[in-house]
Amino acid sequence: MSSSSSSSSTTTSSSTTPILISGGGPVGLFQALLLTKLGIPVRIIERASSISPLSKALGLHARSMEIFRLSGILDRFLERGRPLTNFTMHAGGRRVGTLPVMGTSMENTEFNYGLLLEQEKTSRLLSELLEDLGVCVEYGWELMDTKVVDGDDVEETYVETVIRRSLSGDNTTPEDNMLLGGVDMYAEQKDKEYEIQTVRSKYLIACDGGRSTVRHKLNIGFSGRTLEHKTLMWDGVCETDIVPNGITAVTGTNNKTMIILPLTNGLTRISVEAGPLSPNEDISQTLEELTVERFQALAQEAAHPSTFKVLSTTWLTCFKINERRADQFVYKNRIFLAGDAAHIHSPAGGQGLNTGLQDAHNLAWKLAFVLNGLVKEDDEKGRKEAEFLETYREREAMADRAIDVSSKLLQKNRDNRLIARVVRRVLFTVGPWIAKCFKSFSFAPDVSMLNVRYHANMLNRPHSSQPIPSADYQVGVRAQDGTIFPIFPILPTTTSTATLSTIDEKPINSTNIRLHDLFIGLARFHILIFTSDTNLLTSSSSSTAAALTHIATHFVTQWRTKYTYTSDLQDGYADKDLFKFHFLTTSTKEVTQELSKNPIGEGKVFLDEGAKIHKKYGFEGRGVGAEGGIVVLRPDSHIGYRVNGLQDQAWRDVDQYLASFLASQLE
Ligand SMILES: Cc1cc2nc3c(=O)[nH]c(=O)nc-3n(C[C@H](O)[C@H](O)[C@H](O)COP(=O)(O)OP(=O)(O)OC[C@H]3O[C@@H](n4cnc5c(N)ncnc54)[C@H](O)[C@@H]3O)c2cc1C
Repeated sequence: MSSSSSSSSTTTSSSTTPILISGGGPVGLFQALLLTKLGIPVRIIERASSISPLSKALGLHARSMEIFRLSGILDRFLERGRPLTNFTMHAGGRRVGTLPVMGTSMENTEFNYGLLLEQEKTSRLLSELLEDLGVCVEYGWELMDTKVVDGDDVEETYVETVIRRSLSGDNTTPEDNMLLGGVDMYAEQKDKEYEIQTVRSKYLIACDGGRSTVRHKLNIGFSGRTLEHKTLMWDGVCETDIVPNGITAVTGTNNKTMIILPLTNGLTRISVEAGPLSPNEDISQTLEELTVERFQALAQEAAHPSTFKVLSTTWLTCFKINERRADQFVYKNRIFLAGDAAHIHSPAGGQGLNTGLQDAHNLAWKLAFVLNGLVKEDDEKGRKEAEFLETYREREAMADRAIDVSSKLLQKNRDNRLIARVVRRVLFTVGPWIAKCFKSFSFAPDVSMLNVRYHANMLNRPHSSQPIPSADYQVGVRAQDGTIFPIFPILPTTTSTATLSTIDEKPINSTNIRLHDLFIGLARFHILIFTSDTNLLTSSSSSTAAALTHIATHFVTQWRTKYTYTSDLQDGYADKDLFKFHFLTTSTKEVTQELSKNPIGEGKVFLDEGAKIHKKYGFEGRGVGAEGGIVVLRPDSHIGYRVNGLQDQAWRDVDQYLASFLASQLE
């Protein structure tokens, strides 16, 4: 490892930890929180001396709220944030129109809005939650270098990282917060004394932002482009005759544009383009131009003929737009890149923080599975474990997607050709009307990240012989949501008579819940069994149902014995099960009674009224899938496996899928 030449060390020491996280931004904090909840000890270091006070990202999209919900932490964020529902266009001194940010439909998610919450507040909440679990960020510690030390086998391989702490003042400089969006490593601060430590860990997670030291030290490419424009971003109090409504895009008569966003505490955020970068522009020149007067002039141009005046400023920054993605998110299966360290782009569409949080979630349960010994080890090289962790690379395509979304939005906003301006005006004039007519209309399905879909890999396995189903319920997609009615729990030791009398008296608990309510928790698979009409309501319904309960009991019992957690979890479940089973039926009494005669696992039975959920998962109608089927959801509620039918073969197919990566505790 290379070491710094311009500074001196005073003390050196070494330590070990299963997981080292570098960077205490929101992504590093969420990563640490999830792993801690999963019972994995972590160390998290942060170069700065405290949480960044900058507002930066302004909120959470629907998918991030879903992920927070799965993680059991959403309520604290909902209490502090405010829903953001509208997108308004203002041009030439007039309001052109307002569109819903997410469309009007809640059929596929509980969150048909964005949650407005400044990044500093998000980070503070995550940090508080982490501290509640006894883990504190080690501020002032900076990662300097890292490498993977290969051993003869998987147990002897480790990551060696050098970290240091300045003995005189901060590691950061004031410029770090004034010019954002850079991707070069921070410049070395000369003539300082440091305390140096060598940390040995099983894994390292680089959450150290766009200038990632880890990415630089490992020579991981950061391919993409730097746009030649600079943007000024301002937070403060202003006086204007524009009446913003949600996110408001304002175009002046001279076609200059600015974006107005509401912040909490009566503040406003405005971003406005500040012109092209000069060739070889250096930081001092950029900082010279970074004045409130210049911002005021640019904002007034964009507002024209409306008025705009800055009253007070809390933050003014300039950023370069880089659109880049790390060439690999996984290095030797020991070092992982997440958040801005792995991908960076313009703030348009608010994708950065949200994508980073989802990276952290994707990685946490996978590492917990491996560290809990739940993943098969093929040989002493741990090839199955490696393949399992390698599935984190499914996030690379998500980063490409986020870059694409933000790039297109930025482009749309900048496109000032006559035709583009006319299209924008038409969209905003007729958009609200279209939105009313078509429930699902939304101009931002990509922005909310609800349509994220992973490609096929070890965990997302298309069925080997059945036809590939519709895109909405193919493997890899985020599981669709909807409303279900709990009928009754089927307990393993419950006698059928007791359950039956309950059903006769009160067959349906009238309080509906959302399908996604079933998935709350961090690292469990959920197996949905769609019983379908045809299976259990035909003339021979009782024999069909009896056969289903028999075979389901057989496999459920087997899986529960073979695959269990070995460590303590803090994700809300008292048991150590790796699976939850949920039966979805389209009828009430007959099916419920049949299922209750032969209790299956600890799952529950839910009524899918009008077969709406069956339809969303392709188990409805007369064709393929009409006979019901089984869907295996990964812990992050993406479809991992899907099979049509409930016969013996379908259960054996699921069995094979699980056995392909899970380690049996019986072997
Ligand atoms: C002006 C602006 C507006 C934005 N708006 C939005 C938005 O609306 N929505 C959205 O989703 N995103 C937005 N983003 C992007 C968002 O801020 C980032 O995606 C987010 O900060 C990424 O979080 P992170 O934890 O990966 O990285 P960071 O927040 O950059 O955190 C990285 C941390 O690592 C630390 N660090 C760096 N090097 C080292 C080292 N060697 N050792 C130890 N620690 C180190 C840093 O000090 C920092 O605290 C915006 C960004 C900017 C600049």
